[in-house]
Amino acid sequence: MRWTQTLIPTLREAPAEAEIVSHQLLLRAGLVRKLAGGVYSFLPLGLRALRKVERIVREEMDRAGAIEVLLPALQPPEIWQQSGRYETARQVLYKVYDSARREWVLSPTAEEVITLLAAAEIQSYRQLPRNFYQISVKFRDEIRPRFGLMRAREFIMKDAYSFDVSDEAAQQSYQRMYEAYTRVFARCGLRTFPVEADTGVIGGTLSHEFMVPAETGENEVAYCEGCGYAANVEKAVSRVAAGGQAPVQGTAPAPEKFPTPGVQTIEDLSRAPYGVPAERQIKTLVYIVESRPLVILLRGDDQLNEAKLAARLGTTTFRPATAEEIHSLLGAHPGSLGAVAATLPDPAPPVWADERLRGATEMITGANEDGHHFRHVDVARDLRVNEWADLRTVRAGEGCVRCGRPLQIRRAIEVGHVFKLGTKYSEKLGSTFIDESGVRRPCVMGCYGIGVTRTLQAIIEQSHDADGIVWPVSVAPYEVCLTPLQMNADGPVRAVADRLYEALQREGIEVILDDREERPGVKFKDADLVGFPFRVNIGEKLLAKGQVEIKRRAGGQVEAVSVDEAAVRVAALVQEARRALLEAAG
Ligand code: ATP
Ligand code: MG
Repeated sequence: MRWTQTLIPTLREAPAEAEIVSHQLLLRAGLVRKLAGGVYSFLPLGLRALRKVERIVREEMDRAGAIEVLLPALQPPEIWQQSGRYETARQVLYKVYDSARREWVLSPTAEEVITLLAAAEIQSYRQLPRNFYQISVKFRDEIRPRFGLMRAREFIMKDAYSFDVSDEAAQQSYQRMYEAYTRVFARCGLRTFPVEADTGVIGGTLSHEFMVPAETGENEVAYCEGCGYAANVEKAVSRVAAGGQAPVQGTAPAPEKFPTPGVQTIEDLSRAPYGVPAERQIKTLVYIVESRPLVILLRGDDQLNEAKLAARLGTTTFRPATAEEIHSLLGAHPGSLGAVAATLPDPAPPVWADERLRGATEMITGANEDGHHFRHVDVARDLRVNEWADLRTVRAGEGCVRCGRPLQIRRAIEVGHVFKLGTKYSEKLGSTFIDESGVRRPCVMGCYGIGVTRTLQAIIEQSHDADGIVWPVSVAPYEVCLTPLQMNADGPVRAVADRLYEALQREGIEVILDDREERPGVKFKDADLVGFPFRVNIGEKLLAKGQVEIKRRAGGQVEAVSVDEAAVRVAALVQEARRALLEAAG
């Protein structure tokens, strides 16, 4: 490609809307342009890089035995009602209406469609296992679209769905996808690490996310350098949470009410004149779950993890109760709440307590009377707890569940997600098969997503420097940029550039020739900004010595080679870089 024949609108300054560096570079390098919040057009170079990520995904899916299909983005709402997700996925579902006022939904994912397809087309164990995948546009009504392609309203996802005869067979399908994902990201030159993940409202039993470590990531991951345990904090547990903490000991007298005027928070009660450390307090929260109240107890220094709550409840339809709702339920305002049995209304709302409170004694909790608390509270003796659950968020420094060494927490970007689904969807949507003994059984499913557009941006987030993007060769829009420094038509520079351009293309190298009538400084800046892995400078001075210069974008090494050997040398460098990424994938 010749630079002047395509569209590469580079920008010196990043538009103010771009908060993170990868978003700024997507715009500055002329890869994408925003149409509306969370909705982007791909320009030629952005599209080339995107197609390369897609190709890697496709090759690895094919290699893992998955079969490519293409499912409709426009879907009837009835199938979402049938799976039960019309309600649970309501927040992200875009709805559109046709001229007959009939409602349709725009696909955020495709479990419903593929399971119905399998229900119709797969009848026998002889047709299993099957794994179907597609690479297509998805739509999600995100509350907060941001960071460019990272959290978009319209984006490209690869989604795959496996159907198996048994749990063991499904486990193998899961393992195969897990390995394929590892290869996909390695081939993209992206460092990722898998973490245990929450299965959320999609349901299922086992799940891993593939994470890219990044300060700008929207996820937090707890990990142990000792044994390799790693989990999304939405799911992570520690020795502390697992009940390893000894309860506060003592022969406690009966609970005793005492006045605490003006106390609103855990903090207030921990200060003079009370001086009760947060870990001796019980935090009492009230949530409204699908319109019914739920009282939640945690240790005063712990935070409620809403993802764990959602997983335990099986719904995301909940919110903190308002102060008025709380007052009419418990007769007191936040700051004085508690679950001492005698202070609860009749009938009492359900009370869930975090595991860490199990067996705790000598605790302080609100009395459900404004400005009053109880001391000498023995959780087992005095509180009314209906259910125990792990509801707290782990913190850095707590002991790893597996080996006890201190956990660390870092931020990360989720680029891929693998799930074991079990039979939840196959049962609801009728995907069954006749087994070897003639019995009809539901298929055991898995589902597997890669955010293709998010992956593209994550590569930039991980691989850039002060001058711009540093593309891994496997996903670069072009592998080589030829940069003639003097563009006069009859000079030797242009002729050599043209010759190299032809020669490299013959070698199967993807090359762009910067044929603009621009100063060398402008060309260098743009080439570095876009981030082509190799640049060949062709200028009069070096040509006088019969040489051109090859510069690597990563690391910046420069070597001069003779004009005659240039094409062979550049091709060898590109091939070596391609090979290195393939080898990294194993
Ligand atoms: P998130 O937690 O970031 O909202 P998710 O867990 O809802 O993502 P999945 O349903 O697991 O996402 O989708 C599979 C993949 O699709 C994700 O791993 C991510 O890479 C990508 N993805 C999800 N939502 C978006 C989005 N709004 N914009 C771009 N990519 C997305
Ligand atoms: Mg996910």
